[in-house]
Amino acid sequence: MHRVISALLLLLPLSMLAAPLPGQSDAASRLAAAMLGDTPMVADLRVLTDQIGGRATGTAANRRAVDWAAQRFRDAGVEVRTEPFEMPGLWLERSARVTVRGDGVSFAPRVAALPFSAGTPRSGLIAPLVAAGAGGEEDFKALAAKARGAFVLVETPELFDLDGLFREYTESGGIERRAIAAGAAGVVYMSSRPNNGLARHNAALGLGNRHPMMMMERDAAARALRLLRQGKSLLMTAALDVQSGPAYQSHNVIGEIRGNTRPDEIVVIGAHLDSWDLGTGALDNGANAMMVLDLARQIRRLGLRPARTIRFALWNGEEQNLNGSYGYTGSHAAELDRHVMASSYDIGTGKITGFFTGGRGELIPILDRALAPLRGLGPFTHLNIPIVGTDNYDFMMQGVANLVANQESANYGPNYHARSDEFDKVDLTQLRLNAAIAAAVTWGFATLELELPRQSAQQVDSLIKATDLADQMRSFGVWDAWVAGKRGRRP
Ligand SMILES: [Zn+2]
Repeated sequence: MHRVISALLLLLPLSMLAAPLPGQSDAASRLAAAMLGDTPMVADLRVLTDQIGGRATGTAANRRAVDWAAQRFRDAGVEVRTEPFEMPGLWLERSARVTVRGDGVSFAPRVAALPFSAGTPRSGLIAPLVAAGAGGEEDFKALAAKARGAFVLVETPELFDLDGLFREYTESGGIERRAIAAGAAGVVYMSSRPNNGLARHNAALGLGNRHPMMMMERDAAARALRLLRQGKSLLMTAALDVQSGPAYQSHNVIGEIRGNTRPDEIVVIGAHLDSWDLGTGALDNGANAMMVLDLARQIRRLGLRPARTIRFALWNGEEQNLNGSYGYTGSHAAELDRHVMASSYDIGTGKITGFFTGGRGELIPILDRALAPLRGLGPFTHLNIPIVGTDNYDFMMQGVANLVANQESANYGPNYHARSDEFDKVDLTQLRLNAAIAAAVTWGFATLELELPRQSAQQVDSLIKATDLADQMRSFGVWDAWVAGKRGRRP
């Protein structure tokens, strides 16, 4: 890997980095080139994943990650704060075990509780296991009264890419709603992950969920389905030991490099520091978090002075309904008018192909100018649509211009929230190329002449009406808070 990087370094300044635009100076090119060099980014990622490990918000590992990351900013000479915000409730899995029995059959599949699953009595909850097809309307109609009091086993297609992942998000709300309406004891998803992997996929109702919900390893779920189709009756005993608790305080880590000529104008680049806990959150989202940290470090090391203030946000609570960035938009409400742009990087280490511009087409020519020095890493295609599912969300809902890096799926889908999301899945070469892109974009927004006024409540509302934003908000469990007026800009 290192050999490839050095070859790239030799080639890039000549063949890939086009001449800088007037007014942007060569700082963007120098910064992008620095990100391709042998920086501590990869060593940091090793510490965060292999040493600190999975760091679900609310765990000791998460608090350790916060303290360590803040220290890494300080080590780089970057001003940093750990900023408190409220998590609405604690949810962690201690253990999850099931056994499936019936008619001379007995086996113990591995399962993972869905985040926000209810626990069971210590001795386990015993209920029939019934096949609920894909969990659609017709499937539950066919099950009729058999669903009542049973664990409903939902079959899933194998997940290969981002499309599959978005399908899971889109469908799970309906599946869980139908299961609860049918009186099911709980929901058991067949894991969609290859190689018998398990993953954590949030229960659609979030903290409001009151039912045991879990994901069962794919091969065992397939075995159970075959037995059920042969007419066997199965009973499942599920013992889910979950730790839950009331609201508590967590922290974002916010590095800052103050602007030289327009310090009151703020550009945010962010990636979330928290992860789920089956794996060590390398693709989601350790890699990008360490990229954000390294960008601050390289700007400082090169002595570059942006015109605007840049904030390097390592968000927390992202995996549990985007609570860290939500908290930030609350505690920084008074300065949101002066937030020029907030960007998020959260799709692993697939190649960045462009940015989602959230329905604000005026961002596209700015992106093109910012990325001009790196056009050899393109072409870049920007999609002017709003995206829910990462930390741009509350900025978007507050009318702040926002970007989400659009990346090739690569290996993100199959490893998403999975046991397999480990350091060795990270494409270190592509991570560096993406870091160069993130550097150019951040530097561009921090230095170019531009005006991106905050949108009014009415404009935010129009965005919801003109796009599929409402559906996405429902899929990600943030719709009710918007309707209740708790989240998002209101007149
Ligand atoms: Zn993520």
